[in-house]
Amino acid sequence: MSRVHDAVIVGAGFGGMGAAIALKRLGFDDLVILDRESDLGGTWHVNRYPGLAVDIPSATYSYSFEPNPYWSRLFAPGTELKRYAQHVADKYDLSRHMQFNAVVDGATWQPESQTWQVRVADGEPIEARYLLTATGFLSQPKMPEIDGIDLFEGHVVHTTDWDDDYDFTGKRAAVIGTGATAVQLIPELAKRVSDLTVYQRTPIWVSPKVDFSVPEAVQQFFASVPLSQRAARLVGTSILEGMMVSGVLHYRQAKLINQLAERGCRAHLARQVKDPALRRKLTPDYSFGCKRPTFSNEYFPTFNRDHVHLETTSISHLDATGLVTSDGRRTDVDVLVLATGFNLWDVNFPAIEVIGADGRNLGEWWRATRFQAYEGVTVPGFPNFISLNSPYSYSGLSYFTTIECQMRHMERLFTALADRDATTFEVTEEANDAFLTRMRDLVGDSVFALGHCSTANSYYFNQHNEATLLRPTSTVSALRAAGSFPLDAYTYA
Ligand code: NAP
Repeated sequence: MSRVHDAVIVGAGFGGMGAAIALKRLGFDDLVILDRESDLGGTWHVNRYPGLAVDIPSATYSYSFEPNPYWSRLFAPGTELKRYAQHVADKYDLSRHMQFNAVVDGATWQPESQTWQVRVADGEPIEARYLLTATGFLSQPKMPEIDGIDLFEGHVVHTTDWDDDYDFTGKRAAVIGTGATAVQLIPELAKRVSDLTVYQRTPIWVSPKVDFSVPEAVQQFFASVPLSQRAARLVGTSILEGMMVSGVLHYRQAKLINQLAERGCRAHLARQVKDPALRRKLTPDYSFGCKRPTFSNEYFPTFNRDHVHLETTSISHLDATGLVTSDGRRTDVDVLVLATGFNLWDVNFPAIEVIGADGRNLGEWWRATRFQAYEGVTVPGFPNFISLNSPYSYSGLSYFTTIECQMRHMERLFTALADRDATTFEVTEEANDAFLTRMRDLVGDSVFALGHCSTANSYYFNQHNEATLLRPTSTVSALRAAGSFPLDAYTYA
């Protein structure tokens, strides 16, 4: 008989670490944290492209219970996030639970033993009472399906697999994609290459970025008076809540905020790009918030440079030396950068095969019914399973808000379990149905339902064109629900 661990957590990013901290606070110490990568940090370990930084103020983009007074900038560079992840792992004694290069194939609920069996490629199965998946929303890179891409003989790099050894200096480069990643990368790349063509399918709304380095004296002040950093966090979070949550999710009630945000982006573009034709190409034709907007002061001006070209004609195919657009024009390049983002809905919900009670396959069930999870955390038919990257789970703008809501939910749930001397929980169909109905109703107030989103190509929408990623409530409401959901939403055994 193999040993039964308290829990297996799949993913050693900020989600998995938050879940581990929550479990440790609840008294569970026999944890196994598995990650397919070679180190902790999730997205902040994987992403290393030039220009990488948070696009949410750092005081907000961090655990509220573990503030870091030493962020060097308002929007910290990616390397500092990776360091912060290591600091959290050290402080909360998480590293000893972690196993890297551990690719999880799947997990199956075993009704006889009331445990999960987790299958790891090239390893022995692991058995645990609880299974938590923290595999990230944006963790399965999307490779574009473009004819002839395999024929291209130059260098190809996806932004999630950056080649640190490749020297871009003086090269002719092409970037496919104009999402938040490309917005950070393109200005940096333009400084190095001799020629840069950016292939844009859908433009992105870009806000001005109020960013500055945080003087050491201020960092020391944050360290000695933690309340001051809390205040800074509150200010940053409130602005984002207004702009990105109220203006997007509560569009019916707060349309004006949305319109102001859109106007701010338009004015930003007008200030930075004087050529009307170029400006038109860079202006989205969908409502602000239909897809994730971003912040940058350097993105638009990059297109004013002589050696940078914005290509909006669709790509027909690639061949050995370059790209050909549908009107027959070709651009030869030395290097092709794929800033093509992530595949969420085909391969990431869930990221591993999860088989629950009665052989229910989570991925198949989500696709056969609807994408759903009670409070974005648990799923009927899947006992003792916490799914951190679930439909309607992304709450607020910062991923840390989502994680902390889920930690709070876990605390209430596992405390109820302990109070009943029980070890197995399962959300009821009724509670899950009621939650799904409520979310679907509330999405009706959002820009996704009331704005113009059809041309946005947004990953907020699933393959059935339903906006099932974001939780359509305020952050405060999500936090409140996490600490007060009815305990009879679950059965305990
Ligand atoms: P993304 O937003 O999904 O953007 C992918 C881009 O590639 C889009 O412009 C897309 O065009 C284009 N694309 C994909 N397949 C294509 C194809 N076959 N042909 C032409 N174009 C194609 O991905 P991302 O830029 O990596 O950003 C993902 C998310 O990561 C962001 O929304 C943000 O939440 C997060 N992010 C965060 C930070 C941070 O600092 N916190 C930094 C970067 C990214 P379409 O729009 O037409 O599909």
